[in-house]
Amino acid sequence: MSKRPSLSTSLIHHPYQPPPGFESPAVAIHKASTVIFKDTAEQQARDWKTKSGYTYGLHGTPTTFLLEERVATLEGGLQCLLVPSGLAAISLVDMALLKTGDEVLLPENAYGPGRELARQELAGWGIAHRLYDPMDPQALAQMMTPATKLVWLEAPGSVTMEFPDLAGLVRAARNQGVLTALDNTWGAGVAFNGFDLGSPDEATLGADIVMQALTKYPSGGSDVLMGSVTTRDEVLHLRLKATHMRMGWGIGANDAELVLRSLPSVALRYAAHDVAARTLAHWCAGRAEIAQVLHPALPGSPGHAHWQRLCTQAAGLFSVVFDAKYSRSQVHAFVDELKLFKIGYSWAGSTSLVVPYDLSMIRAKPAWPGTLVRFSIGLEGVEDLQADLAQALGAMV
Ligand SMILES: *Cc1c(COP(=O)(O)O)cnc(C)c1O
Repeated sequence: MSKRPSLSTSLIHHPYQPPPGFESPAVAIHKASTVIFKDTAEQQARDWKTKSGYTYGLHGTPTTFLLEERVATLEGGLQCLLVPSGLAAISLVDMALLKTGDEVLLPENAYGPGRELARQELAGWGIAHRLYDPMDPQALAQMMTPATKLVWLEAPGSVTMEFPDLAGLVRAARNQGVLTALDNTWGAGVAFNGFDLGSPDEATLGADIVMQALTKYPSGGSDVLMGSVTTRDEVLHLRLKATHMRMGWGIGANDAELVLRSLPSVALRYAAHDVAARTLAHWCAGRAEIAQVLHPALPGSPGHAHWQRLCTQAAGLFSVVFDAKYSRSQVHAFVDELKLFKIGYSWAGSTSLVVPYDLSMIRAKPAWPGTLVRFSIGLEGVEDLQADLAQALGAMV
């Protein structure tokens, strides 16, 4: 080796270290595929299953460990796994817990892509699924068989917004020793604690697994996709973690940083979206064009009493069903007429969004005859959003 190392070597093995004592509220973004061990003893001793040390980028960095800890805190859980999207979190739970010959039960109003996963991949692997009525815990209790290994829960249902008796559903599954997994994307860990459903006689009545699309409220920026799978049971966590590791699911440090930056404001943003959405939902309920407003905090919305028992807050999300006299193309014209509301999937960002849904694609027996439109209320001025709704409704003929 020559006296002076090459420029590249000098740049790679540079002497710079962050100054000791530098502390900042901002978290450092640690990036790694490889993690260097001091010696073979250290390399042999470190275990990817525990957080006592770092082994490989896919198994975690200080940045992802920090985010896991914060999401576990948000959800009221103890352990957390991060995956590249909310849908990946659903597939992680399904893959870790279900084997050929098993069965999973999904609510009829479940998040659509999760249902498609059951219909396509799970069915192909010999894992059956059936849909249950989320508003009827007794029916769920009667549906379970020895093959039933997992019950998915969602509160409220995507798009149609029925709020179930979560405690009743969990109790039905638990009585038969079946695990429950809650998609907590709507509640975001803010509206209620998925691990503590507030049953006065049952201190620990909650879902076994709480999954969330961090893409939505925890990010809030419409710029990152991420999912989490949180637990309060180390054995269950390790079962999920083993599959997580074998599937090779990891998240990027920059994405982790975006969520870490957003998390401190999640409760404030949630509250602001909630106030605006409720104002607009009440206003929509007074419009002749609209037959039904679906928002769990509105009396008359399906499952309102269940929402009221568990929550005081609600996400900034609601759906409206138009009077059946309006054709689908008339409702589409209303959506096209909106200026501030942008047409787009997802929710929880600062831009208000709108999507029309064909109810017959969502439910075998649609409860309402008209066309449904879902709004995600952003952070614009509520009076501006109301004026936009008014002008687009006014243009309907
Ligand atoms: C968005 C969403 C998901 C999936 O999250 P992605 O990050 O978009 O994959 C899952 N469940 C619900 C209820 C959602 O709204």
